[in-house]
Amino acid sequence: MIKVNKTRCKLCGLCISFCPQKNLEIKGKELTQKGAKCTKCKLCEKYCPELAIEVE
Ligand code: SF4
Ligand code: SF4
Repeated sequence: MIKVNKTRCKLCGLCISFCPQKNLEIKGKELTQKGAKCTKCKLCEKYCPELAIEVE
């Protein structure tokens, strides 16, 4: 489960390029998950410069 803080997220797309599962996308000005492919590797959480992602 990915929790995105919409106030913090600047839609920079960095997490999208880091996700090894290609699980993230920007849709309608929001960062969302494409499906249920997340392996909870936490790379998106680690590399987001705005600390906007939390992996649970
Ligand atoms: S890296 Fe962080 S700020 Fe950039 S799109 Fe992803 S969640 Fe948003
Ligand atoms: S935890 Fe890993 S697999 Fe899941 S969305 Fe983030 S980078 Fe992708």
